[in-house]
Amino acid sequence: MGQDRDRALTDLQWLLEAGADEAIGEVAPDRLAADRLAPDRPAAAQPRPSAPRPSAPARAKRPGAGDAVAAASRMATAADSVQALRAALAEFDGCPLKATAMNLCFADGNPEAKIMLIGEAPGAEEDRQGRPFVGVSGQLMDRMLACIGLDRSSVYITNLLFWRPPGNRTPTAPEIASCIPFVERHIELVDPTHLMLVGGISAKTLLGRGDGILRQRGHWRHYRHLGMARPIPALPTLHPAYLLRQPAQKRLAWRDYLSFHRAVRDGLDPVTGGAIRAG
Ligand code: URA
Repeated sequence: MGQDRDRALTDLQWLLEAGADEAIGEVAPDRLAADRLAPDRPAAAQPRPSAPRPSAPARAKRPGAGDAVAAASRMATAADSVQALRAALAEFDGCPLKATAMNLCFADGNPEAKIMLIGEAPGAEEDRQGRPFVGVSGQLMDRMLACIGLDRSSVYITNLLFWRPPGNRTPTAPEIASCIPFVERHIELVDPTHLMLVGGISAKTLLGRGDGILRQRGHWRHYRHLGMARPIPALPTLHPAYLLRQPAQKRLAWRDYLSFHRAVRDGLDPVTGGAIRAG
């Protein structure tokens, strides 16, 4: 009995470390096995199929990260509206995170807004609801936005990743790469006057800079990618999840929010000091 309990606790610990932070059933479903089951037999009656080892040519044909990025670019470029982009993402199977997430987490707020915020990746609550920044860190972000007169009717919010990394682990480079064409197209379609890049991964990836968020935050830079009509002033800031762990750093974030407020209020491009040339 005692041994069973110890074994169960060890298994539970292993699951927690692997990112399982919620119990949603008595038995863990093997979704990969479910895909291989014959449709006319109930899952419980199926013998566990042993996966055939693919032949060498089949292995060579398996889609790789490069294929995923190419497919993402094709699908994103073909989307001519924000709704079409969402539909394309729902069809897209090139990001491995989709297999473990509950929901696609696309965007929240007003797609007509001229202010766009880009975070990192959905967490547990975002994954459940399919909306970015609805958990505790999102609630802190809402309060900070309210202090500068903004809410979800006046901003548009999305993430660099559209599916939750298991256990909120740091996304891998191929996972990020497979989402980037959609993020770029998302920015083109929304065409904001100002961007806020929330957290280090978003800032590093979209500004192509290696320095950490504590160095980047508060410094306006131009975001641009090939084919964009004009660069967009972008402000990196600290992630609210970090602020919840390090409340003393809120004073730095507050400076960023004030700087953002001034730029938006005055229609300024803080990188050039001139007026924003809206598209
Ligand atoms: N953190 C993010 O970066 N994005 C979310 O949507 C939630 C938490």
